[in-house]
Amino acid sequence: MIGTSYHSNQHNDLAVLSAAVVAYAEERIRLAPPLDRPLTEAELIETVGNTITPEGRGGVEAMRIFTDDLAPTCLSTDHPRYLSFIPCAPSDAASMFDLVVGASNIYAGSWLEGAGAVYAENLALRWIADLAALPAGAGGVFTPGGTIGNLSALVAARHTARERARAGTRPNVVIATDGAHSSIKSAAEVMDAELATVPKDAAGRMTGENLRRVVVEQGPEKVFAVVATAGTTNFGIIDDLASVAAVCQEFGIWFHVDGAYGGAGLAAPSIRHRYVGIELCDSFIVDPHKWLFAPYDCCALIYRDPALARAAHTQKAGYLDVLTEAPEWNPTDYSIGLTRRARGLPFWFSLTVNGTDAYTSAVEHTLNIARYAEEEVARRPYLELVRERDLTVVVFRRLGWAAEDYHRWSDAMLADEFAFVVPTTHEGETLARFAIVNPQTSEGDIRGILDAMQ
Ligand SMILES: *Cc1c(COP(=O)(O)O)cnc(C)c1O
Repeated sequence: MIGTSYHSNQHNDLAVLSAAVVAYAEERIRLAPPLDRPLTEAELIETVGNTITPEGRGGVEAMRIFTDDLAPTCLSTDHPRYLSFIPCAPSDAASMFDLVVGASNIYAGSWLEGAGAVYAENLALRWIADLAALPAGAGGVFTPGGTIGNLSALVAARHTARERARAGTRPNVVIATDGAHSSIKSAAEVMDAELATVPKDAAGRMTGENLRRVVVEQGPEKVFAVVATAGTTNFGIIDDLASVAAVCQEFGIWFHVDGAYGGAGLAAPSIRHRYVGIELCDSFIVDPHKWLFAPYDCCALIYRDPALARAAHTQKAGYLDVLTEAPEWNPTDYSIGLTRRARGLPFWFSLTVNGTDAYTSAVEHTLNIARYAEEEVARRPYLELVRERDLTVVVFRRLGWAAEDYHRWSDAMLADEFAFVVPTTHEGETLARFAIVNPQTSEGDIRGILDAMQ
């Protein structure tokens, strides 16, 4: 039986179950995990079948099913040669503490229920706000990911613009470049807003000059937000934030910065100057589950003036009055969603354990590995860089290869459980791409993958 006691039958003896769970977690975090590879659904039906039975299989058996049959079919996104999409490479402290967060069953939507957790999450948000040089009043919430972070910021932006608009105008246009993340387009669709595109400059960036033309074309009173990207997903390009901010200020338009991947670079003094202008944003996101060593799923969403977000997002209902009428900080008031886990706590714990200097070193280290990858590509006659690297994304071509060759190379490395590096496409061309955010990724790992392209 569940509910009355975990000890109600031998299947569910808590001591046995916790030993199995903790041993697994400890080993998974301590050991370098294999890369693993997926099975098809038919194969899983064949090997695992249905595990859910009327009597229950018991904790030890359920752990065995996970350990032997399920886990090996899930890629280790923290593997040092997992360089696709954006990997996730949590610190040991962050991963371990995620177990504690799970066990604690904290409701982190309100201060009333989760005071200490909300307080600690806010310390972590404050560290990020300080990196971006946002004012003391800035604040926000940890959301499940950049997609919800961007959507929540844009909902706050549109709500604010409509409150301020002259009678008869309903601002409904959001502006970005075509290098912006797909979640911006999907947010516009969810909101039934129009997405207008700014042409990029020669370096692939949004600039104030190009932005101004689009704002004027659209009609400034119709535009509720401009989204600049601080580290595009495909190339790591940072828009010209300062000139974009100036245009937003000139027209009184909400300035949102999507730093889901690249925002972590704020912690690296060697590249901090590229983010100048970010301090003028109205909202900003960064995913600690990307390049700030936190486990899934964790996006930090920060507003310059949180009261504007609260006005847009607070849910009103009789049963919630005791929360919504309280003066304390309720994270749920700052994004889409009501119930939330304290998903910022593993990140907070790791910051507290390791100190922020360790974050600076780790981000700088991955920048160095990316520089090494770029140099290795340049050094090899059969490879060619597509574009100079801004952050830790390196995009390059194998001379003489067609799309099939890239796929064959990528599939073979996964089949061997050696590396997970999927091709990308840019302007119709298939290319190779590394995204390096894992401090464990070594120069040897980079050489091994490039050698496999010979
Ligand atoms: C990854 C990414 C997102 C989406 O974040 P999720 O956490 O995957 O929802 C948004 N913007 C950029 C620039 C990204 O790299």
